[in-house]
Amino acid sequence: MNIVVWIESKAGEIKSPAIEALGVARKLADSTSGEVTGVVCDGAGTAIPDQIMTAGAHHIVTRTRDDWDTCGNDTIAREIMGVCESRNAQMVVCAATSAGKEVLSLVAGGMGIPVAADCVDVSVNEGTVEFERPIYAGKAHLRQKVHSDRVALSIRPNYGEKLTVDAAACQEEAGAAETGWKRTAFEQGSTGQVELTEAEIIVSGGRGLKEPENFKLLEELAEVLGAAVGASRAVVDLGWRPHSDQVGQTGKTVSPKLYIAVGISGAIQHLAGMSSSRTIVAINKDAAAPIFGVATYGIVGDLFEVVPKLQSDLKAVLQ
Ligand SMILES: Cc1cc2nc3c(=O)[nH]c(=O)nc-3n(C[C@H](O)[C@H](O)[C@H](O)COP(=O)(O)OP(=O)(O)OC[C@H]3O[C@@H](n4cnc5c(N)ncnc54)[C@H](O)[C@@H]3O)c2cc1C
Repeated sequence: MNIVVWIESKAGEIKSPAIEALGVARKLADSTSGEVTGVVCDGAGTAIPDQIMTAGAHHIVTRTRDDWDTCGNDTIAREIMGVCESRNAQMVVCAATSAGKEVLSLVAGGMGIPVAADCVDVSVNEGTVEFERPIYAGKAHLRQKVHSDRVALSIRPNYGEKLTVDAAACQEEAGAAETGWKRTAFEQGSTGQVELTEAEIIVSGGRGLKEPENFKLLEELAEVLGAAVGASRAVVDLGWRPHSDQVGQTGKTVSPKLYIAVGISGAIQHLAGMSSSRTIVAINKDAAAPIFGVATYGIVGDLFEVVPKLQSDLKAVLQ
């Protein structure tokens, strides 16, 4: 099975979930005697990091232009469709980041193929693609078969596997991208240093923080951990944080390795966006708060005492 993977990048910096998606694709290709082609759409003259050459692709195709930042995702989708055509791809894969989901839906729409979104597991059994993805706010996993010759898949961040293969076996092919339309305005959404859906660690705050200024406590903790800062809808509705920070049913779905919920009650709509995180730590003064129902570790206490202590202890250990 030949597989094309979009390797999301910006100014030569490859997004970590894209490396995981490559690893998933390589394992599927190996089990079906196929090949993986990674597509990088980045600026002319941008060096491709060595990391990409060993991450699982048999071929890397670069499509360069200097204004990718202002291009619509449909320009990227068109480049990917072109590569799918030339490589006779049966599968196209992206990481399920915000951009990845949009690009994949454009590719699937353009090629007229089904989409399996947000997969946490993919396999091919006797030629049939099977995938698994969380449903009902992560309370259950659905396993389905794809009844189509071709399929588009997005892989949930932190669920793939980063591989290291022989770099010499990876071939590179460069070319200029075709001209597409441009955005006339571009608004930077997130306030955080790390994009929420790609973060390995998220420190998220809720109404328990009492005032917007108190998010500084979480920002300091996040800095020590190299984490992104998220928020519940209650604080977004109050105008304390931008909507791009919101985790949950009407915000972002995240699945970091570590999610620290601070002063968040754990309403079902919040759990919908974070309950598939690998490890969940909840800090709440109410022992009966629903967040403890999904937490791996819980601290019952006043966040204004617990968070500064946690921050200084972690700083002493990590820095
Ligand atoms: C259609 C719909 C969609 C929604 N979508 C979302 C969504 O995407 N994301 C989302 O988050 N919500 C969403 N909501 C809202 C959701 O139902 C909750 O209202 C919201 O998540 C509550 O936010 P919170 O936990 O910050 O606030 P609260 O429920 O008020 O919880 C605050 C918590 O802080 C604790 N606390 C207070 N003081 C301290 C202290 N000093 N130390 C420690 N703990 C303390 C309290 O014990 C409490 O548990 C949605 C609701 C609807 C109806």
